[in-house]
Amino acid sequence: MNRWGIPASLEEQVKARDKTCVYCGVQMNEKMPQSGSRRTVATWEHIINDARIVTPENIARCCAACNSSKGTKDLFDWMQSNYCKIHGIREDTVAEVVKKALETVRKQDLEET
Ligand SMILES: [Zn+2]
Repeated sequence: MNRWGIPASLEEQVKARDKTCVYCGVQMNEKMPQSGSRRTVATWEHIINDARIVTPENIARCCAACNSSKGTKDLFDWMQSNYCKIHGIREDTVAEVVKKALETVRKQDLEET
């Protein structure tokens, strides 16, 4: 397990899948660059902000810029933010894993009402 409580097998799986940021699609760096911007450093992300959901569907890799912008915001709320508008992040531009998460949340909302 890494320090986010992600088992090594899952970590490998997600690393192999998410080569670019799942939100903005930027090519990510594994390590902090010696100089310049750290906004493209790869970070671990819970798509739905629930640390208990440690599945390939909820664990993803995104760039430091998206991660710090999203913070603890709800995925739907964040996607309405200025950051997403500026970076052209929309439901139809995000990675497949994020699209699926959005669908899942919608379904749950429907079932609750
Ligand atoms: Zn990003």
